[in-house]
Amino acid sequence: MTDVLVLVDQINGEVKKPAAEMLTIARRLGTPTAVFIGPGAETAKDLLGRYGAEKIISVSDPAATEHLVAPQAEILAQLVEKTGASVVLIPSNSAGKEIAARLAVKTESGLITDAVDVQAGESGPETTQSVFAGSWTVRSSVTKGAAIICVKPNSATPEQAQGAGELEEFTPEISEQAKAAKVTASEPKKQSGRPELTEAAIVVSGGRGTGGDFSPVEGFADTLGAAVGASRAAVDAGWYPHSSQVGQTGKQVSPQLYVAAGISGAIQHRAGMQTSKTIVAVNKDEEAPIFELVDFGVVGDLFQVLPQATEAVQGK
Ligand code: FAD
Repeated sequence: MTDVLVLVDQINGEVKKPAAEMLTIARRLGTPTAVFIGPGAETAKDLLGRYGAEKIISVSDPAATEHLVAPQAEILAQLVEKTGASVVLIPSNSAGKEIAARLAVKTESGLITDAVDVQAGESGPETTQSVFAGSWTVRSSVTKGAAIICVKPNSATPEQAQGAGELEEFTPEISEQAKAAKVTASEPKKQSGRPELTEAAIVVSGGRGTGGDFSPVEGFADTLGAAVGASRAAVDAGWYPHSSQVGQTGKQVSPQLYVAAGISGAIQHRAGMQTSKTIVAVNKDEEAPIFELVDFGVVGDLFQVLPQATEAVQGK
């Protein structure tokens, strides 16, 4: 069976949800091996095994994480050669895409980014890819080398399946060239207590229709355990931080459920959310373009609808 390397999405040893999703996908394609770069593999071992990792390759050499992403591409290239892996799954975030691009050049392989689904095909993985800022969905597969695929968060529902979870240390050879840039300081972002926007299973977003009062949006989001997003109009007005902007010039999200409140549905906003599995909109204007792409639409005032929905979810 083909070996599938999965680059584990983690921060300071804390495994993020996409890792379990990618291991679930990896099991469809072959035998999953998790690649854990940085300290903490021992702690993460049980969790990764629980989602089907047969092997966990730990790379704890500090040089692997002190020099931005270049060493990680070298490490994966060495592991592709060592294991003969024919598929490499990498998180589709900005660091992951840079690692993947470097790896594709090193291994002379094809690369697919922004995959929202990956299934086993007759001659390798077949991906559904979200391209042009999410405005097109395309099916593609790699025809040369190892299939290097960047997978977006929420592309699979994590399913447990016990793997051997055998831990193995790998000592890479990291070139001087890969060490040419160094991390000099890193500080964690202030935590809101809500899930990360691009990883959240549910996103509730507010737009100009909030008039700057995001409390109904936040209240509904917190009841659902959701992340809060915003349209550019809301961000440009200074009502919500740019890091929460969804759309062509913001973040691209693909949650199980996306709720757009007081958002008209401009093409640039759609580009960031239209691959969401279920889309719900609340808008006063029944002609608002957002209603063209929703699964459920509520024509109404968000200041009435969202508090009622919040109470209904809370069972009041
Ligand atoms: P509006 O279009 O003003 O819509 C507000 C909606 O709220 C209306 O439909 C109205 O009926 C409704 N409403 C008002 N009051 C209520 C109420 N009380 N209850 C319910 N509904 C109410 N936009 C993005 O979002 N993300 C991007 O990344 C992005 N990138 C862009 C890049 C470029 C190059 C350009 C040119 C534009 C970009 N835009 C982006 C802007 C985009 O074109 C729209 O202007 C923006 O999305 C509009 O935001 P909105 O829907 O919140 O506001």
